[in-house]
Amino acid sequence: MASQIFLNGEFIHRDEAKLSVFDHGLLYGDGIFEGIRVYDGNVFKLAEHIRRLYDSAKSILLDIPYSQAEMCELVCETVRRNDLSSAYIRLVVTRGPGDLGISPYICHGAQVFIIAEQLSMFAPSLYEEGITAITAATRRNRTDALNPKIKSLNYLNNVLIKIEAQAAGANEAIVLNTEGYVVEGSGENIFIVRDGVLSTPPAYLGALEGITRGTIVSLAHELGYQVKEEPFTRHDVYVADEVFLTGTAAELVPVVTVDKRTIGDGRPGPVTRKLHQAFQLTTRRDGMKVYPQEAIS
Ligand code: PMP
Repeated sequence: MASQIFLNGEFIHRDEAKLSVFDHGLLYGDGIFEGIRVYDGNVFKLAEHIRRLYDSAKSILLDIPYSQAEMCELVCETVRRNDLSSAYIRLVVTRGPGDLGISPYICHGAQVFIIAEQLSMFAPSLYEEGITAITAATRRNRTDALNPKIKSLNYLNNVLIKIEAQAAGANEAIVLNTEGYVVEGSGENIFIVRDGVLSTPPAYLGALEGITRGTIVSLAHELGYQVKEEPFTRHDVYVADEVFLTGTAAELVPVVTVDKRTIGDGRPGPVTRKLHQAFQLTTRRDGMKVYPQEAIS
């Protein structure tokens, strides 16, 4: 278990890492976050995650007291302090302590913390066998109410969707927007494959522009597959040959049943498996080195 947490300029033991109950991140979900992964000492797509964090911050008028380069270094240092080579990193910036009013202008400054831990979102066997999914009754937040490009701490919509999956005895839930188009999972993007062509919903429907999603699109192109960004419905998911979800925490996980409909032959399909292999290669090969080269050799 990782013990060293970065909190507001220092590294402290996890038991000592505490925030105020007046923090608006806690009171109102007023803050932003990123989930990042390290594979074999390489932080995957670190600059992209940090950029998305600063874009979220700008959008909600939140000042982060570090430059993007400093933040990259703090992420790497958190991994080093915990002596990890593969880990999931959670980087959070809250609005900071204020009072019980909603106004953020009373808050005394952003709180920044970074946690690095081992994490597998699903049991390892499910990455081989595939997961079960339902469609959630809860719809995704409308983009004109809360733009999903802001990766905010306001994740209650996602939590409710996960509760529905659990209540139905499924591993995950697929979420629709208010018009009934498929958007994503509770915390992952979705792809379907039909006749060798991949489709993923466009971000404007309400999906996060996932960094893993972008990686998978590039890898699919490199492998010669056509990828369409197009709206589709539950029906298209049911009749797809293959379905899989992507995300930093979830990585790439096949989906083998949706609302009790068997996808394809009920096992992860060839396109999913090829992309999974390519994903594993690229995550372990590319990325920002956490440890100096001489320390490894
Ligand atoms: N959608 C949602 C709602 C998410 O929370 C996440 C995880 N950050 C994703 C998609 C996947 O995004 P990424 O690949 O950048 O982790």
